[in-house]
Amino acid sequence: MNQVGDWYASTAPENKYQYNGKELNEELGLNWMDYGARYYDPAIARWNAVDPLAEKYYSFSPYNYVANNPIMLLDGDGMKIFIRDSDGNKIEYTRGMEQSEDYSDFINHTIESLNYIASNGGKKAIKRLTKVENRNYDIVQTDEFSGDSFNPHGEGGTIKFNSTQVNEYETEDGKFRVITAVTILAHEIDHASENERLMAIGERTGDYSKILDFQAAINPVPDDPRRAKEEKRAIKGIERKIAKSLGQHIRKRHNEKPIDKYNSDGPFDKY
Ligand SMILES: [Zn+2]
Repeated sequence: MNQVGDWYASTAPENKYQYNGKELNEELGLNWMDYGARYYDPAIARWNAVDPLAEKYYSFSPYNYVANNPIMLLDGDGMKIFIRDSDGNKIEYTRGMEQSEDYSDFINHTIESLNYIASNGGKKAIKRLTKVENRNYDIVQTDEFSGDSFNPHGEGGTIKFNSTQVNEYETEDGKFRVITAVTILAHEIDHASENERLMAIGERTGDYSKILDFQAAINPVPDDPRRAKEEKRAIKGIERKIAKSLGQHIRKRHNEKPIDKYNSDGPFDKY
């Protein structure tokens, strides 16, 4: 809702950049806020127009705001990857950015991982996710084992990331090899990048069949063959490049079961 009142006006010069840093547009007396693609009316907490991509998100009302989840998601002006830890801290990731002692371990782990992925085969994917026009990609902390996932939503997508998880595998020749968190993140980044690539094709051509297939695969009905196809693509993609560059386990099948899962000190650490 709108922040307005005597208390608001008297404490500072007039500030038109309000909730989420969006500019209040008072022209025509409508007091709508400019979110780039649409205007938002804070008085009624509704958009004035349907989401330009609403037809692809039929599970949500087209007038929804950030997929009806304003706590976890944020409708920015796009072109962003946000890293969000479980204490509610949030930073915007830019390629090559530095870690900081002001950040939580999770945020630093994620910065370190994304920088590594970008310079070891995932540059195109990271670029794609930081340059999108009107969507956001959030990387959100999870402490669950095998809690890593990518879920598209109305205006981008959410990656859940456990930044210290290690998966251990036994290979056919009886050796033990691991995949660390950075490699698992590379896999999810690949799904997110594919979401963005197919979304852009839909916007360019007006044919959204590919992105609809992809999103059905990612949020599957049981045994949807499209899921297997997307996972096959993803395990051979950036995940494999990162695993190779770090001397980690190369998965041949997505459903290959680890023999053990445990936490290490960081996204690159095996123990
Ligand atoms: Zn996957």
